[in-house]
Order: sequence, then structure tokens, then C-alpha cells
Amino acid sequence: EELLGEDLNLSAETTSQSSSKSSNDLANATFVMLARNSDLEGTISSIRALEDRFNSRFGYPYVLLNDEPFTDEFKRRVSVLTRSEVKFGTVPKDHWSQPDWIDEEKAANARKQMELSQVKYGGSLNYRHMCRFNAGFFYRHELLQPYRWYWRVEPNVKFYCDIHRDPFRFMEENNKVYGFTIAVYEISATIRTLWRTVTDFIKAYPEYLAHDNAMGFISDDDGKTYNRCHFWSNFEIADMDFWRGPAYTAFFEYLDSQGGFYYERWGDAPVHSIAASLFLRRDQIHFFEEIGYQHDDWGHCPIPDDVWEKGRCSCAQGNSFDMDVSSCKPRWDRFIRS
Ligand code: GDP
Ligand code: MN
Repeated sequence: EELLGEDLNLSAETTSQSSSKSSNDLANATFVMLARNSDLEGTISSIRALEDRFNSRFGYPYVLLNDEPFTDEFKRRVSVLTRSEVKFGTVPKDHWSQPDWIDEEKAANARKQMELSQVKYGGSLNYRHMCRFNAGFFYRHELLQPYRWYWRVEPNVKFYCDIHRDPFRFMEENNKVYGFTIAVYEISATIRTLWRTVTDFIKAYPEYLAHDNAMGFISDDDGKTYNRCHFWSNFEIADMDFWRGPAYTAFFEYLDSQGGFYYERWGDAPVHSIAASLFLRRDQIHFFEEIGYQHDDWGHCPIPDDVWEKGRCSCAQGNSFDMDVSSCKPRWDRFIRS
């Protein structure tokens, strides 16, 4: 009986190896997606695209997080899409709420003002919780503790090209820490005092500034002002050990103590991007040319023909946001060449 059992195990193993990577070839990595129960269709669409273009050949797990419990129907309809493990988690209340040092009257006033001046999500308290969670808490969630690398995914995103090379392994093998596909300018009204706060932090903790950092990407005057360039964080492939480490931990705590996630509307994107640009060496930040990706109105399509062909991409290169006047990608290219 025992022998038969082992035989069965063995053949199952052989079958799964012939159609996918063995777990030895995989990085210690997971997808992570924050979603509401109402995002079900968009969640399905994003996971289908990822499976088709990449993960059905690799088998990385998924962690889905929500500020409310996922419904059984949500879990059932998502789990059926992949042979990978899918874990569903709820965000602890204190990772999704205003800290007690926030003056609610001041915060409510700020929301009202921003709503009146028609700043995107300006009046939303929930959006601010989401930004603060993505900036400082997702990597502390218990479901993410086993992992080092993550790929952030959102509902309703598209992946345009076959991804042949494992981006996690690429990051690992090339000592990269933060990977992006799209870079844009932040809305000024949401970050009025962010740079001043960053500057104060650097003065207090100069030891965290990396040698050969990417300050030149985010500032045109050696750190005096912020040019508002940031990596669009709805897509991120990065090393959670960076967020968990001393520099970012001190940085996030300092920003959070100043209240700008609520008194303004600091996004997780500029917060992550400024940290990556200051506390990493520039060569630890990677632009993924080969990952064709769409989020809302903006997408990246691989520009070099050989990359586009190899990926059998379904996007038009001419529509790539990289060449748009509101893209920070040209600045990134100039900076990297400098
Ligand atoms: P945008 O990309 O800045 O326009 O913001 P989104 O509305 O796409 O939100 C960013 C991410 O947070 C997405 O993955 C959303 O599904 C998720 N998200 C936003 N608000 C909430 C919320 O209230 N609850 C949950 N569970 N997820 C949210
Ligand atoms: Mn989004």
C-alpha cells in the first residue's frame, strides 16, 4: 500500500514538472492584490491575464487582501482560475484607520477643501486608508510574512505580452530591489508638504541616504525641490525586505507621524518612489521594458521591436505612455545615462 502511494506521488510530481517550473526554480515570491468584494470581475480579469501571459508556466501563489472579509463566492470564483495557491486575508483594523494622533477636524477640513477643488479622490477617507496601507503596512500582513518578493497587481489591469523570463528571479539574480513599468508626475495638491517632510527626515537621518542614489530622478536641483516624478505603484515588483528594513521603517514612521496621509493625500506611489530613489543605489531600481501593462488610461508597451515580437504583445507600441508628455520615463532614461 505504501509503495503504491509513493508511486502515485512520484508520477504526480513528474507530470507537474513537465508543464511547469519545479519549486526550486522559483523565487520566494507572491502576487499581492488589494481588492473589494465588488472588484470581483476585475480581479478575475487581472488574474486570467497574469496566468495566460506568465504564471500558468511558473505557479507563483497569490495573496488577496481586503479591508472586509472576502465572500465565499469571491473566493470560489478566484480560486478556480489557477492551480497556484490563493490565500485570502483581511487587513487588521489598525492598518486601515486614522492613527489616534490625527486631528479629525483638521483632516475632515482638508478632505472637504480637496473635494471642492476637485482633486482626484480628494474627499475620500477610504482612499487615504488605502494609500497609507500600501505605503506602510501591506508587507507586515501575516499572509506576506513567508515571502520576500512581491508583484503588486490591481483589479482590471492588463498584461499585453508573454513574460518568458521570471521577473522575480531576474530581480534576485541582478541584485535589484524595486521594479517598475510606468513613471508619472504626482498631483501637486496631494503632496503640498511631502518634500519638506522628506527633507527634514534626511537631515535627521543622513546615514540612510544611499551612495549613488537616484535623487537625480526625483529632483532637478539636488534635492531642493521634488519634481513630482514617481513610479506608478499599481504595478510593483519589489523586495519586501527593503520596506521591512531600518531606513524605510524609520522613514514611514516619520511620515506617518506628520499626518500627511490624512491632512493631505499622500499616495503610496510617491512615498515608495522617494524612498527607493534615496535609500537605494540607482542600479537597484529596474525598469521592466518587456512587461506590457495597462492600468486605467495609461499603459506601457515594449518599444524595441525584438522585445515586442518575442512577447507576442497585443499592444500598439505607438500608444505606449513612455513617450507621453506626462510620463517621467524620458527623465528616467536621461538620469540613467547621466
Ligand atoms: P487608483 O489606482 O489610484 O485609481 O486607485 P484604485 O481605486 O484602483 O485603488 C488602488 C487599489 O486599492 C486597488 O487594488 C483597489 O482594489 C484597492 N482599493 C481601493 N479602495 C479600496 C477599499 O476601500 N477596500 C479594498 N479592499 N480595496 C480597495
Ligand atoms: Mn487602480
